[in-house]
Amino acid sequence: MQKTLALVLKKQNLGETDRIITVLSPTLGKKRIVAKAVRRPLSKLAGHLDTLMLTQIILTDQDVLPRVTSAVLAEGFETIRGSLKLATKAFAITKLVERLVLEDVPNRQIFAVSVEALSRLNSEEKWSAIWLKYLSQLTDNLGVGLSNWRCLRCNEPVVDDASFVVSERRLVCGKCNEEFAGPTIPMATNSIKLLSIVRTKPFSMLRRVNLPTLNALQVEEILLREITDWMNRPWSEYGAIAR
Ligand SMILES: [Zn+2]
Repeated sequence: MQKTLALVLKKQNLGETDRIITVLSPTLGKKRIVAKAVRRPLSKLAGHLDTLMLTQIILTDQDVLPRVTSAVLAEGFETIRGSLKLATKAFAITKLVERLVLEDVPNRQIFAVSVEALSRLNSEEKWSAIWLKYLSQLTDNLGVGLSNWRCLRCNEPVVDDASFVVSERRLVCGKCNEEFAGPTIPMATNSIKLLSIVRTKPFSMLRRVNLPTLNALQVEEILLREITDWMNRPWSEYGAIAR
């Protein structure tokens, strides 16, 4: 028997009454599990294993497709699941995490920040703040997070007029950028400020900051590029995921 908290990422029907459910668990990573007879009207499991539910489950011991023997809802995220608009945003989180976390590879931190982001969304906090903080936390977990605020060439602190160097995951100042050969993303001054807030300040502060769309999009692009580069996927696949 294995007991774990599980966030339901998606479900698919199996046979007449069963379902294969993909969950995210702090101890099992991403895991495909079988819920027997869950589609029967009187199933004890139904109502605890729907998409976007956080549930305490007990599984049989098989490594491949273990069976759910018990499921008790821990957090239903009712506000999200009751709103198509919020659910669409929540799916941006679950889609990204589903491709990021490997099967049977535990990752407590990614589990924790994903549940935290969903809790904030469920409390109807500002989405752009939730999303940028979440992406930033993912870059930390993957070890690709930007933390150096100096130009990669001249080592002066980057204040404004800078570009992001994709291959180095670093900033280059305006002066040095002119003689820089590789691909860079020019950033507005306010985007650099916003990126710095997202990276260094707590969510409680970020949620109170004005987030102009242009700057939020630039910061999103930087963070998504870092994450998708790690995944070896084109970032453009994910660019529109959260809208
Ligand atoms: Zn420089």
